[in-house]
Amino acid sequence: MATVTTFGVIGAGQMGAGIAQVAAASGIQVILQDISQEFVDRGMATIARNLQRGVDKGKMAEEEKQAILARVKPVTEISAMRDADFVVEAASENEEIKFKIFAQLDELCPPHAILSSNTSSIPIGRIAARTRRPEKVIGMHFMNPVPVMKLVEVIRALPTSEETFRTTVALAEKMGKTPAVASDFPGFIANRILLPMINEAIFCLYQGVGDKESIDTVMQLGMNHPMGPLALADLIGLDTCLAILETLHRGLGDPKYRPCPLLRQYVESGWLGRKTGRGFYSY
Ligand code: NAD
Repeated sequence: MATVTTFGVIGAGQMGAGIAQVAAASGIQVILQDISQEFVDRGMATIARNLQRGVDKGKMAEEEKQAILARVKPVTEISAMRDADFVVEAASENEEIKFKIFAQLDELCPPHAILSSNTSSIPIGRIAARTRRPEKVIGMHFMNPVPVMKLVEVIRALPTSEETFRTTVALAEKMGKTPAVASDFPGFIANRILLPMINEAIFCLYQGVGDKESIDTVMQLGMNHPMGPLALADLIGLDTCLAILETLHRGLGDPKYRPCPLLRQYVESGWLGRKTGRGFYSY
């Protein structure tokens, strides 16, 4: 099983920043890349803010915070990944973007490097086929918020090798996470179950079955969910929710996954949830 010493993260959004933070906290050197300085700076600011919260609560010393931050190297050029042993891609949930990134990583990274995707729904085999190392491609699906959530869904595609799988499981464990294994079908396990529930909650709002507060209260107090489905959709990002539902709908061919028209309308209006300050709720 390969040892991971340099870990690359592509995309410094809410997931990429969280993944970089957790990897750095486990002692690994991290390279965090996004397409502009502004996005990389925002990712680094998120990590610093999260760690500061730990310091303020007395759970972490200031020196430890500084040491973790010093292990994350922010970059804007993907060519920096030539030093990585293991890469997690956490760019936007868009097939064309991911295909292009994987083709570039395949060119740049050393032959032993494992290339993983944090995709919420896109089959890993489709991504692996864009590389000349499909046996070294795997899904490593973290949950949001990454520093808090224990689960990592590990997705084995048909060509994924046993060695790649074992290295990924060991890395997830080193990062303090609990891996669960899924086969390579659209949405895997987590979003195959979660997104139809969120979509149904949006249909309830669309059809006037309840207002947003009632829908979320029913699921929180009636089903003991820590967050209601509409608030959770705002946290995930409504664009990401729509992209996942479209992948389920297209990939599984079952009309039960059709995205609610209200979700599409919100996304087209730029109401993407917390990240834009407005979704089902205002932030
Ligand atoms: P986000 O919109 O917060 O961040 C995406 C980042 O990717 C942005 O900073 C963007 O600039 C960057 N990016 C876009 N194209 C790029 C490129 N070519 N190279 C480098 N960076 C690029 O999105 P997110 O919520 O962090 O989601 C990222 C991935 O993680 C998606 O695949 C998503 O499905 C998955 N995911 C999301 C959640 C969630 O709850 N939001 C949970 C698990 C997995």
